[in-house]
Amino acid sequence: MTQDPSAKDRALGPDLGMDRPISRRDMLHGAGAGLAAGIVAAVSPAWADADTAAPYPPTLTGLRGSHPGSFETAHALRDGAFWDQARPATDTDGAYDLVVVGAGISGLSAAYFYRQAKPDARILILDNHDDFGGHARRNEFWIKGRLHLMNAGTLEIDSPRPYSAVSAGLLKDLGIAPAALSKACDRPEIYQGLGSGVFFDKETFGTDRVVVGGGAPWEGGGDAESWRRFARLAPLSPKAQADLVRLETGQENYLPGLTSAQKKDRLSRISYLDFLLTLAKVDPSVAAFYQARTHGEWGVGIDAEPALDCWVVGMPGFDGMKLEPGSAPRMGNTAAGYADGGSEKFHFPDGNTTIARLLVRRLVPGVLPETSLEGLVTARADYGALDRAGSPVRIRLSSTVVGARNLGGPAASRGVEIAYAKGGQVYRVHALNCVMAGWNMMIPYLCPDLPEAQKEALHKLVKVPLVYTSVAISNWRAFKALGVQNLYCPGAYFSSVRLNWPVDIGAYAAARSPDEPILLHLTRTPCAPGLVERDQHRAGRAELLATPFETFERNVRDQLGRMLGPSGFDPAADILAITVNRWPHGYAYEYNPLFDPDVPLEQRPHMIGRQRFGRIAIANSDSGAAAYTDSAIDQARRAVDELLAA
Ligand SMILES: Cc1cc2nc3c(=O)[nH]c(=O)nc-3n(C[C@H](O)[C@H](O)[C@H](O)COP(=O)(O)OP(=O)(O)OC[C@H]3O[C@@H](n4cnc5c(N)ncnc54)[C@H](O)[C@@H]3O)c2cc1C
Repeated sequence: MTQDPSAKDRALGPDLGMDRPISRRDMLHGAGAGLAAGIVAAVSPAWADADTAAPYPPTLTGLRGSHPGSFETAHALRDGAFWDQARPATDTDGAYDLVVVGAGISGLSAAYFYRQAKPDARILILDNHDDFGGHARRNEFWIKGRLHLMNAGTLEIDSPRPYSAVSAGLLKDLGIAPAALSKACDRPEIYQGLGSGVFFDKETFGTDRVVVGGGAPWEGGGDAESWRRFARLAPLSPKAQADLVRLETGQENYLPGLTSAQKKDRLSRISYLDFLLTLAKVDPSVAAFYQARTHGEWGVGIDAEPALDCWVVGMPGFDGMKLEPGSAPRMGNTAAGYADGGSEKFHFPDGNTTIARLLVRRLVPGVLPETSLEGLVTARADYGALDRAGSPVRIRLSSTVVGARNLGGPAASRGVEIAYAKGGQVYRVHALNCVMAGWNMMIPYLCPDLPEAQKEALHKLVKVPLVYTSVAISNWRAFKALGVQNLYCPGAYFSSVRLNWPVDIGAYAAARSPDEPILLHLTRTPCAPGLVERDQHRAGRAELLATPFETFERNVRDQLGRMLGPSGFDPAADILAITVNRWPHGYAYEYNPLFDPDVPLEQRPHMIGRQRFGRIAIANSDSGAAAYTDSAIDQARRAVDELLAA
């Protein structure tokens, strides 16, 4: 795939439409800005936060997620450059009962739980982005007068564990019943007859080819006959084709002579790549076929994923091994596989942003209308109402917290002084209590007087970088012609591409006809196979922050053209808008037995890192070491309880 297009490529390559300003297209209305305008210019000085004078954030295109202007302050603080350039702190607002750092689901839940216990509490929530929700944000596209929604990050209500009483209770309070919503709103029949496909790219497999079938187990997999047909059509050698079929349909026991417990112990300590190459002994091109299958779940390829986790999510090769149900390292105590052992699932058209919006509506009246849950999905938020003087709860965006200290020291804290940067100025607020619900790895820079062991632990919570790209297209006839709704792309720039999940809720309706515009969801997981997991994430983050929008756009156009062009898709004409949701700090780090020592729970970094420090308590899904919404909520509850008990 194209990483860095040269001038020669541009001159000689196919017409991908790179030169066409998308805002000129007649079909896209209401997005507020075209691609170029979506890229917010860096502000001066380099660390200063962009101001909130931006247009309606959910409709912005270009580079979103950790958008330009949201992270420069934090990076200057990390690099020790921030306080040299900072303008003097200004006192603001008077005192709060609680300041929350981070307006993600954890921070919003913390404010909600605190207000439940202390209904009169004055709360300020600070977030460095120009939108609230943290990873739970939404992309809105208005095409031909109709709203199309896509999750910018957090996709669905799901977890490998059942939701706890706390997190299930919060959903219930908010009026969300996932199973009932799924029954009432999911519209899988719209894509009836459309299955999965695989895009084999010529850089990895020698030729560009889409082969229908080959779906992952979580996409319905396939029976023996369909795997044989798929293998025959795949651009693989005859041996590799036979190995693929053996792996998917065979009953071999690759660890004879061991008990189930012994096998599981071994499989938790070798990667799935090792399992394929050394135990199942498949052709290396078969391993290349599976390499990116684990990207979406864990943010690394099969080289860094314990084979036992791959068994739990249904990846092939284990049928003949007679493994007894039980726990797996990254899947909690999932006794019978993800689907059976986990929580109920539901996908709102904007992902879990609806949860964030419901929380905001409860906390700050006037931001969102008092409609039904269904009506909220299409409602427009009034960003001007988030931070009004006189409101007991205020949400202040584009505000990066740069320091927090206990007044009087942690042991006898009288309250917390919090400093934050906004628009090139540093402000100071005081609160009785503070919940850190932002990214835990950043806390040592905010609270330099934390104990060294705690800082060291927090530094280990390296988050997983991911890119979710939303692409508006004028029609999906090419998908219909191919007979697919999603494509797995093991070697390509984007490792998966799918049509927007069809959900009808309230006035919001999924696209019905292939002639209608639709949104595509493309994922990229920047990682560096072969390195230990944390280093893969660090390398991926560096890559993400160095990648300009133009590179993403070119790869969107190039990959869609190569996959779908033979079925009639024209990237120059059919692409209406692109929003790249870049998450250099994405999923919370989850313990990985391939790289982390097997120590008791209380000695794991997230447990050491989340200790209360005076009147500062630590939340975020990071402090549960689980990249799920239930973890974000549960950790908020724990952090608030710690403060209330103190
Ligand atoms: C692409 C993607 C897809 C996901 N899909 C799912 C899914 O399908 N299901 C699921 O359950 N989970 C999913 N997750 C996991 C997701 O992280 C959690 O579900 C949840 O949304 C995390 O909420 P949080 O509040 O803990 O963290 P975040 O959402 O990360 O919120 C923390 C907020 O704090 C802000 N912040 C950090 N430092 C500072 C500072 N110094 N000053 C001010 N603000 C700060 C951050 O910018 C951020 O806005 C996904 C995550 C990503 C990235």
